[in-house]
Order: sequence, then structure tokens, then C-alpha cells
Amino acid sequence: EKNIFINAVEISKGICKSKLNHGDTAVDCTMGNGNDTAFLCDLVGDNGRVYAFDIQDDAIRNTRKRLQELKFHERAQLILDGHENIDKYIKENVRLIIFNLGYLPKGDHNITTKKETTIKAVEKCLGILEHNGIILLIIYPGHENGRLEKEVLETFTSTLSQKEYNVVRISFANQVNNPPELICIEKVCLK
Ligand code: SAM
Repeated sequence: EKNIFINAVEISKGICKSKLNHGDTAVDCTMGNGNDTAFLCDLVGDNGRVYAFDIQDDAIRNTRKRLQELKFHERAQLILDGHENIDKYIKENVRLIIFNLGYLPKGDHNITTKKETTIKAVEKCLGILEHNGIILLIIYPGHENGRLEKEVLETFTSTLSQKEYNVVRISFANQVNNPPELICIEKVCLK
């Protein structure tokens, strides 16, 4: 048995499981070491597709190795570019897009996502989201860039039309030390 509300990452994984079916297309906007990319590859199955972005060579290298070990490499496209350029690479509608923001815990803490490019990417992501598709934003407000990202993402997402999107924020009300938070943007179903 396992709790649902362990932390923002685990909650987002549960949402991925309930949203994604075999054959779907998903995007990991912050590849890092490829944990989320591999998880998405598993959920979309043999006929599915996963695009993953990172600006670090190491991320591509580590993720490629991991996907090869898991035999997931054929269903994934790893892209060495910022997620703010997502529209250059993805011309189809997608079911799910995940951002695990901030820096790699065991990597260079100076290489972190930044509010300007994060917002630009999220705006572009809205344009390629399927009806009933979802964008998941895991935010780390415990560091300065993360605090700024939280501010701009909350402001931006709260202005989205409720006719078009269900926007939900999940934060831990009783935890100390600014735990990670989750913002979900679900595109409403076609009537
Ligand atoms: N999902 C990853 C995993 O499973 O290991 C962890 C992601 S880590 C918290 C954030 C990642 O975002 C870092 O690897 C960093 O290089 C990357 N990043 C920073 N700015 C970016 C950008 N503009 N576009 C894409 N990735 C970016």
C-alpha cells in the first residue's frame, strides 16, 4: 500500500498513469537523468512516442543510455535544446507534458530552469495540448529561481480561461522548508 500524497513528484506520476494510454504522445520538458522520460516511455508503450528536452549534453547521454538499457530508445526522441523552442520540434498534438523544474540534484546547481524560458515554453505547450491533455509543472520554491518560477507560473496560470482549462495547484500545507509544489493545467474535453 502507498499514499497518494507523498510528494509533488509522486502525485504527478499518479496523474501520468491515469492520463496516458498506449499509443499516446508525451513530452518531458526537463529530461535530466531521464527518470521521467523512462517512466513516460513505459506508459505510452511500443506504439507511443516521447519527446524529451534538455540543454545539457550529459542529460542526453545519461538518458540515452538508460533508455537503451530499458529498450525504450526507439519510442523516444531526445532533443538537445531548450524547452522554450518546443514548437521547432513538435508539430503534432500531445496528451501530456511534464516539467520537473529547477536543477539536477547531483548536477551543476547553476544550470537551472528560469522563469522567462519556462513561461515561454508553457505558453507554447498550451498550443500543442490535446483536449483532455495535461501539463504538469513541478516547482521547487526552496531556491530563489524556483521561488520566482512559482510566482510567474501562478500568475500566468490563474489567468487562463476556465472554459478552456482546469488549473489546479497542489501544495503541502503542513510541511516545513518550502516543499515542491505541483500545478496542473488540464485542457477541457471537447463537448
Ligand atoms: N526529470 C529529470 C530526471 O528525471 O532526472 C530531472 C530534471 S532537473 C530537476 C531539471 C533539468 O532541466 C536539468 O537537467 C536542466 O539541465 C534542465 N533545463 C534547464 N533549463 C532548461 C531549458 N530551458 N530547457 C530544457 N531543459 C532545461
